[in-house]
Amino acid sequence: MSRVALLSEIVASQVAAGEVVERPASVVKELVENSLDARATAVEIVIQRGGIALVRVSDDGHGMDRDDALLCLERHATSKIRTGADLAAIATLGFRGEALPSIASVARFRLATREAGALVGTEILVNGGRVEKVRDCGDAPGTSVEVRSLFFNLPARRKFLRSEGTEAAHVESHIQTLALAHPAVRFTYVRDGRTVFQLPGVRRLLDRIRDLAGEEAAGELTMIDAPRQVPPGGLKISGFIGKPGVSRATRMSQRVFINGRAVENAVVNGALREGYHTALMKGRYPVSYLFLDMDPAAVDVNVHPSKREVRFREPGVVREALVAAVRRTLEAGRADWTRSFHQAPLPEVAPLVLPLEQAQMDAVSRPMAPVDSGVIRPPITRIDPPESLFPPPPTSARPAPLFVPPIADPPKPAEPAPPKNGTGQFNLLGVLGRLYVLMENKDGLVLVDQHAAHERILFEELRRRLEANDTLSQQLLFPLTLQMNPRDADWLRRHLEPLQRMGIGLEDFGSGSFKLDSLPPFLQVEEPLSLLREIIDALQAAGSGTSKLRLGEEMIAKTVCRHAVKANDRLRERELVRLLDDLLACELPYCCPHGRPTMIQFSYAELERKFGRRT
Ligand code: ADP
Ligand code: MG
Repeated sequence: MSRVALLSEIVASQVAAGEVVERPASVVKELVENSLDARATAVEIVIQRGGIALVRVSDDGHGMDRDDALLCLERHATSKIRTGADLAAIATLGFRGEALPSIASVARFRLATREAGALVGTEILVNGGRVEKVRDCGDAPGTSVEVRSLFFNLPARRKFLRSEGTEAAHVESHIQTLALAHPAVRFTYVRDGRTVFQLPGVRRLLDRIRDLAGEEAAGELTMIDAPRQVPPGGLKISGFIGKPGVSRATRMSQRVFINGRAVENAVVNGALREGYHTALMKGRYPVSYLFLDMDPAAVDVNVHPSKREVRFREPGVVREALVAAVRRTLEAGRADWTRSFHQAPLPEVAPLVLPLEQAQMDAVSRPMAPVDSGVIRPPITRIDPPESLFPPPPTSARPAPLFVPPIADPPKPAEPAPPKNGTGQFNLLGVLGRLYVLMENKDGLVLVDQHAAHERILFEELRRRLEANDTLSQQLLFPLTLQMNPRDADWLRRHLEPLQRMGIGLEDFGSGSFKLDSLPPFLQVEEPLSLLREIIDALQAAGSGTSKLRLGEEMIAKTVCRHAVKANDRLRERELVRLLDDLLACELPYCCPHGRPTMIQFSYAELERKFGRRT
């Protein structure tokens, strides 16, 4: 008896539907993608009962003539590719020619379509894969596809559907994603007779984001700083990412589009994370509306039927460009940030005397000395000054940080001084709980976490040294031996040189053992071996494409904390001023090397709301 038989077309389509049509949201996605491929300028999505009872997608795209309308319901019928070679460079959202027949095989299906110049349109009714009617129709030019009673003929699949609310939420999220990728297209979404949103076609992505996510969410974003013009076929990076300090607990807000297609891609995710590096807290995810446009031949979208996954031909190139763009963007955002703390002069508010302890009282009780930038600090009028606690005006352009880590020689004087910001527009009020420095600026109250601030300063100082090849190494009293498993040993062997440059003296003794004889002086720890192991783990986890510099940064970030001013270390005013000056001179002043904020602003508006002066 023969056991092998060809499946009927309908069953084959139902099998394919298993991959393409998972739930109502996937129907919506496929249909809207078709509308976009047909160059629609307006798309309307209507659903009922979570899309299980009805999904209807109508567009004003180019439509189909009767032959095409009939053909598009056949499996592997597509207008988007012709040959195997076309697969190598897909520029449309669809290309598999599977969606329509698959959907039609698991629902009651109606297609109405009409080309712009045609006298009449075509209407086709399909029931569970069987074409039941083909006739003329008078619909407007464009295409409308109606999908009713999804999975009516596949009860097993139907059982897997969740509540109507959950299904509708998936639908909405897919529409949002598609709408973000195509801001110029007008989208209307109607659920159970109620219009959920109507997005006008807009020219700018940010307007679409604002329409979808709201003013506040849009305000958390900063535009990617990358070349607008790229050579033909080159990689263009655009869109928006969250400002430093903006993050989410899940990856949900991390949206990535490659050639207009929403995708999930580990290379991109990794690069985003690395770009944020110390501006992102552990376990948090960046917010992004990231658009990569590249030669379609440089990316393979034919990885999975849902087309959510892509593969880059040259992942390294994409990764590097992206890391650089994210970094540049975050560091450029610094200018904005500094401005917001510095701009206009302070309002005339009588300073408050806080009930500080005597030492702190001493520290805040004098008009501040002019700083080198020439900015005169607004005087703080308080209690009579005791003997001077204030440093003479600094002579060098950039004073050495007060809290230099135990590294022997001072920073090279030849080093060009970074632009000086000064705390000119801050008024120091005092210190709360020996941790939070209280200041006022034009907008209200500013709180600085002195520990986090100092971590950031130390981190950047050490990184500068690393970049300048200026890290010192301290001989260990007794060299230690490190035993590694073969994989780690191999990794270590390949990274001996960069580790050396960071001041970690390691020598390969063969068969997985290494001798450790020196460490950077800022790594003063009781258990050098376990720390080293920790560092190596972290560095390995950071990925193979990681730059040497990044390896160093990672290590510094992990260790800097041990040396920073602690929460309850009491600082004098001049130390505080220096701390703030140094912080503002940092490249990324707004967060510590672990991504926690260093400063928080409470605006007058916020305070007024809290005190009920304003609603
Ligand atoms: P694919 O999109 O992968 O080509 P589909 O099964 O989704 O496969 O669609 C088959 C074909 O039907 C498309 O290639 C396209 O030519 C045509 N088509 C589908 N939807 C529309 C639409 N909304 N407007 C115009 N043509 C469409
Ligand atoms: Mg399609």
